[in-house]
Amino acid sequence: MSINSKEIYSKFIKEEAKRLGFISCGISKAGFLEQEAPRLEKWLNNNYNGQMAYMENHFDKRLDPTLLVDDAKSVVSLLLNYYPSESQNSESFKISKYAYGQDYHFVIKEKLKELLHSIQENIGDVSGRAFVDSAPVLDKAWAAKSGLGWIGKNSNLITQKVGSFYFIAELILDLDLEYDHAVTDHCGSCTACIDACPTQAIVAPYIVDGSKCISYYTIELKENIPNEMKGKFDEWMFGCDTCQDVCPWNRFSKPHSEPLFDPNPDLISFSKKDWTEITEETFQKVFKNSPIKRTKFEGLKRNIKFLK
Ligand code: SF4
Ligand code: SF4
Repeated sequence: MSINSKEIYSKFIKEEAKRLGFISCGISKAGFLEQEAPRLEKWLNNNYNGQMAYMENHFDKRLDPTLLVDDAKSVVSLLLNYYPSESQNSESFKISKYAYGQDYHFVIKEKLKELLHSIQENIGDVSGRAFVDSAPVLDKAWAAKSGLGWIGKNSNLITQKVGSFYFIAELILDLDLEYDHAVTDHCGSCTACIDACPTQAIVAPYIVDGSKCISYYTIELKENIPNEMKGKFDEWMFGCDTCQDVCPWNRFSKPHSEPLFDPNPDLISFSKKDWTEITEETFQKVFKNSPIKRTKFEGLKRNIKFLK
């Protein structure tokens, strides 16, 4: 393949990604993530993954997509904005903004399928696999390597243009493409996220102890939330956005234009009393196709009880 065709194919993929509503698209050569390997190993050795045992699985595959997808050549990283135009009732228990709308896994998988289909129709015999927020792929590391942003001190991918409220997805292809370069870190001397974290989960710049994070307690943890955390959750009932809300780069967040991410009106208007009295029937109705279903009715009840 000539350099020229790599350029043309890469340009085509980026234009198609834009047409499908992705706010950014960057491309890296598939291979071993050398810089990430010691960091991930140390993070796991410190048990910062808590009970998220799945993060220990497939260690080698997680660091090298060529072990995950046959003949992988390129990792195409994509960002899809979820920043909402509406806010929740300010007197209520809080829900992470990514969970306001319909389950992003389905929404993004459909877009990735369409992107792959369009690549196959226009470029030819290309194979690929789509990943959305899936454990085997280090999505933030790939997005950073592809120049979409930098990994901030709160461990989120940050962009100068639109902050950090977006989903990250990947398409791994057996096609050589033109590769992008990483951008510089613009956290500078800021420590806003570290200072604001309600549970001191950001134990050092760029290191989040996942086992102390409110998102872990309210979504991943299957047991009771430890008592020493009582009073520290700052009203977060599902997930936590504090370290993103305080990030100065999120002043540049713009509302998404994906109708499927628009929230159910009840989610926005419910008061603390409504949440406390929610029945399983209402839960199923309000959270039909929502990522909140992951914690199940019992989990949400546990979280609400813990906040009271
Ligand atoms: S999501 Fe919340 S609890 Fe977790 S690191 Fe950020 S501020 Fe801390
Ligand atoms: S709040 Fe400050 S230190 Fe934290 S990620 Fe944003 S810019 Fe970086």
